Amino acid sequence: MNQEPGTQNQNENENQNAERRTPNAEPLLRVERLTTVFDTARGSVAAVDDVSFDVRAGETLGLVGESGSGKSVTALSIMRLVQSPGRIAAGRVLFKGRDLMALDERQLQAIRGAEISLIFQEPMTALNPVFRIGDQIGETLIVHRRATRRDARGKAIELLRSVRIPNPESRVMDYPHQLSGGMQQRVMIALALACQPSLVIADEPTTALDVTIQAEILDLLREMKAALGLALLLITHDLGVVAETADRVAVMYAGRIVETGPVRDIFRRPAHPYTRGLLASIPGGRPGERLRAIEGTVPMLGDLPSGCAFTPRCPDRFDRCPTAPPPDYPVGREQAAKCYLHDPQSHDRQSPINQQSAMTSQQFPNAVR
Ligand code: ADP
Ligand code: MG
Repeated sequence: MNQEPGTQNQNENENQNAERRTPNAEPLLRVERLTTVFDTARGSVAAVDDVSFDVRAGETLGLVGESGSGKSVTALSIMRLVQSPGRIAAGRVLFKGRDLMALDERQLQAIRGAEISLIFQEPMTALNPVFRIGDQIGETLIVHRRATRRDARGKAIELLRSVRIPNPESRVMDYPHQLSGGMQQRVMIALALACQPSLVIADEPTTALDVTIQAEILDLLREMKAALGLALLLITHDLGVVAETADRVAVMYAGRIVETGPVRDIFRRPAHPYTRGLLASIPGGRPGERLRAIEGTVPMLGDLPSGCAFTPRCPDRFDRCPTAPPPDYPVGREQAAKCYLHDPQSHDRQSPINQQSAMTSQQFPNAVR
């Protein structure tokens, strides 16, 4: 939240420059029509349903949605870490042009943790409790970078210092439980960055932390991202986190991406009623304003409404919504929403679009600047 003035603009300019130089350049990561199902007693249900999105080199894409919308399953699918009864049923995941779905386990191992690394919500699920943190970081360097044991120790200390762990020379000997939650998450970040990946997937990296620590960890992620030029797929249920950190946003609901666009456009001009609902339910808006949550709950996967899955909760629903899942409709140069309100054919209807006032610049200065 203490973003240095200008850093985001600077990054944006860099991204735009990169795009201008190579307008048709492949994105770093392209997820294409990914479908991941869970085989249950009641049949197979799609936790990730025909999901497509790109992450460009050096950018932060925020993947946002309520709990249960399929964000973590998407992350695990990209890394091919989905466990039974889950399985990837369709789609491609292209990383630097290579289809990760077509690689064998050994080729994947070489990419996981080295070229693409994951940061989880609970650092303790990723850190091994019985090894010193320096050894865990060192091991990654030895495996992926062929570092010698001695070099690995020095490099681990350097990494701990870069994520601002005080006294890294002695901390390197600590076991994970000797560190606070915030420090553990810093170790996770150090571990994720050890092999200089070009993509980091961070799944709710600050959700388990208290608010001040959250802000510090987000600052650190932004800073490391800029310093190392890496791309970040930032998964969160919190649009506030996205506003602070992301360049572009993909909004997920019931396993589908319902809206995508640049963060400023999404905050100024949310196009999908679900996105508008999420924005309205962010705490910390105008003083004295009551938190407006979206009515109803995320539907059970086996029991999705037909058509647009958001229909039963949607304040703007109309007769067409339950008929078939809506395709992506463009609503701006780079923004699209799966909502019939944006079908040019529906324009004789009185459109409730833009009814909600755009986010105020006080509320999200970074997003709407
Ligand atoms: P999010 O990360 O957005 O909170 P997840 O990706 O963890 O959501 O889960 C999406 C949906 O996938 C869940 O609502 C659940 O229905 C289904 N799911 C996830 N893990 C399993 C599992 N092991 N078995 C059956 N269904 C699962
Ligand atoms: Mg999750």
